[in-house]
Amino acid sequence: MSNPSLLILAGDGIGPEVMSQVRRIIDWYGENRSLAFDVSEDLVGGAAYDVHGVPLTDETMEKAQSVDAVLLGAVGGPKYDDLDFSVKPERGLLRLRKEMDLFSNLRPAQCFDALADFSSLKRDVVAGLDIVIVRELTSGIYFGEPRGIIQEGNERVGINTQRYTESEIERVARSAFELARRRGNKVCSMEKANVMESGILWREVVQKVHDEDYADVELSHMYADAGAMQLCRWPKQFDVIVTDNLFGDLLSDAAAMLTGSLGMLPSASLGAPMANGRPKALYEPVHGSAPDIAGQGKANPIACILSFAMALRYSFDQGDEASRLENAVEAVLADGARTADLLGEEGVTPVTTAEMGDRILAA
Ligand code: ATP
Ligand code: MG
Repeated sequence: MSNPSLLILAGDGIGPEVMSQVRRIIDWYGENRSLAFDVSEDLVGGAAYDVHGVPLTDETMEKAQSVDAVLLGAVGGPKYDDLDFSVKPERGLLRLRKEMDLFSNLRPAQCFDALADFSSLKRDVVAGLDIVIVRELTSGIYFGEPRGIIQEGNERVGINTQRYTESEIERVARSAFELARRRGNKVCSMEKANVMESGILWREVVQKVHDEDYADVELSHMYADAGAMQLCRWPKQFDVIVTDNLFGDLLSDAAAMLTGSLGMLPSASLGAPMANGRPKALYEPVHGSAPDIAGQGKANPIACILSFAMALRYSFDQGDEASRLENAVEAVLADGARTADLLGEEGVTPVTTAEMGDRILAA
């Protein structure tokens, strides 16, 4: 059997810095756990524009379609601010998401005990928190037609349309139920069925998918506004939350801040199953290219490292190895290692990006 394949697109800014620590961890797995990957690296974003004049070449796009998983760093930076919209670095990432049809965006909110005091909430509300928000990513109000700013009489009207087909709801619901089965076996679906037709259909389809194929998973429904309140009040009541594009955008950003720094947050974007039964997948840290700290060895590599842990779990069926990596992160944090973004207490000297990588490898 051939090794599982991984395409690394490190991108711009701190992307290559955090990715080089992930590279060391990937190599470690090959050397120590007989878990070797066929790794190829390529350019995306500004880095691709500098060489090819486009933020993603057709060749790179083809490669992304053919591998088991794509691991992306970050794209963009001030150097590219004045570029034409069509070749902006972000367009490279958007093309990947669109052509791979990554409709299910997984955003974990996980609070490592050592960082619980970092949250704006009380320690007992967040310590040990481990939930995932599944956001529908390719449809809904950000894409629905008609849209635009039109003239109506003597004033202008801004229009967007919330639109979901049954099959769009069904596929993201399936992805949430599948995820729940590998975790706490509990899904909470959020919409506003009280005031939106798309919400009524959402609730109906999620319930139907559940009753037909996932009756073993505990399912509840909540209005998204109430969900936002519950997320801040007692987030540990949830395991997997599934919701649409707009609500997911808001709820996942809110949930992210329960746990502290942007430098800690991984994500996965999943599509339809491939021939091997696993979904098409792109893993990336939630943070951007952080031009303000790029090139200074200050970046926290943990978000990118945890994104690779998600790849181990969801693309390569290596849940135990994913836990091994997460436990190593937990251990170095418990041991007091902090990159600059995680500094709260006075008198702690921050570790560099590479030192954090050293510590995690050692653990
Ligand atoms: P984008 O538009 O690409 O999302 P952004 O401007 O929204 O980028 P980031 O690039 O993510 O945001 O950076 C926001 C802030 O968080 C910056 O001050 C940056 O230094 C900090 N930051 C982001 N990622 C990290 C990280 N991995 N380690 C340390 N600090 C980080
Ligand atoms: Mg941003």
